[in-house]
Amino acid sequence: MGKQWEHELEVAVKAVRAAVGVCRTVQHQLATPEKLEKKDRSPVTVADFASQAVVCAQLAQAFGDDPIIAEEDSAELRKPERAAIRQVVVGHVAAGMGQELDEAEVMDWIDLGGAGASGGGLDRFWTLDPIDGTKGFLRREQYAVALSLVEHGRVVLGVLGCPNLPLGDRVGAVFVAVQGGGAGVLPLDGSGASEAAAAIHVSAVASPDGARFCESVESAHSSHSDSDDIAHDLGMTSQPLRMDSQAKYATVARGDASIYLRLPTRADYQEMIWDHAAGAIVVTEAGGRVTDIAGQPLDFTHGRTLVTNRGIVATNGTLHEAVLNSVTRVMGRS
Ligand code: AMP
Ligand code: MG
Repeated sequence: MGKQWEHELEVAVKAVRAAVGVCRTVQHQLATPEKLEKKDRSPVTVADFASQAVVCAQLAQAFGDDPIIAEEDSAELRKPERAAIRQVVVGHVAAGMGQELDEAEVMDWIDLGGAGASGGGLDRFWTLDPIDGTKGFLRREQYAVALSLVEHGRVVLGVLGCPNLPLGDRVGAVFVAVQGGGAGVLPLDGSGASEAAAAIHVSAVASPDGARFCESVESAHSSHSDSDDIAHDLGMTSQPLRMDSQAKYATVARGDASIYLRLPTRADYQEMIWDHAAGAIVVTEAGGRVTDIAGQPLDFTHGRTLVTNRGIVATNGTLHEAVLNSVTRVMGRS
């Protein structure tokens, strides 16, 4: 997969595998998902914090002062009334790292992810979504641990741990990509280094009517009615593949679908960088293309959000212009 960022990739894959291990452990202890979704979000909280602590600790150990922009911070968890949940988080992190830890250390690891507070201007930083697709995590469907490295505003490395995507006869896959080095997939379990990754490629589908598209399960995250109109406009006949998290990018990257649409549902929403950085490089290195709905490249130079972009269109490349044109036609109407 190329020499540059080799060490970064090894560390990132190891950290993501460890974080997924923690997420799975928490999930095994869940009560029924239905009950949880309505009444008690604490397992998500526990897994989010523990996953972030595990990844940040390993990045800090390997790369000292590299800034990290991650989704969570420990402010809530540090409150006296959160002592019980804090204990559980520390327990999971300790189990995941195979060492005894004190609370203060774990809280500080979580807060290593706070580098986005100062806005943009970082030459090199990591970005992490410790659990992308929390709704999918609760439903025991798709979710992801997404980690990537950004240098001078460009994503140069991405690792996407997808615990519930099938890989051969197993379940769980790690997608990896390095700028200029292609994209690949590894089993989630096991210790295979990224050298062993099997190359993945986007689909060769050349006409939209034969294409499958992915979108969010949550219609609040991406307009299902607009995608329905676009599918109709393009003559796409198959049903959308709805799944949570950046598993959608992985699905396009390995050719199981050819299009991922994320169509804004409100004018003021800004996409978070950790929801897209890892997935976007996995798709582009697999031969695809990723832009916003106006065809603009994603701009990672502004801190925590893609403030200059709106929505996402990811495709196998071949279909990109046709999809963008249709998005313009349909969304211009509404
Ligand atoms: P997905 O699983 O693809 O639906 O995306 C999950 C992500 O959607 C979460 O991590 C949130 O950061 C993000 N999100 C939350 N609200 C919105 C919104 N209104 N539009 C788009 N994305 C959102
Ligand atoms: Mg997310």
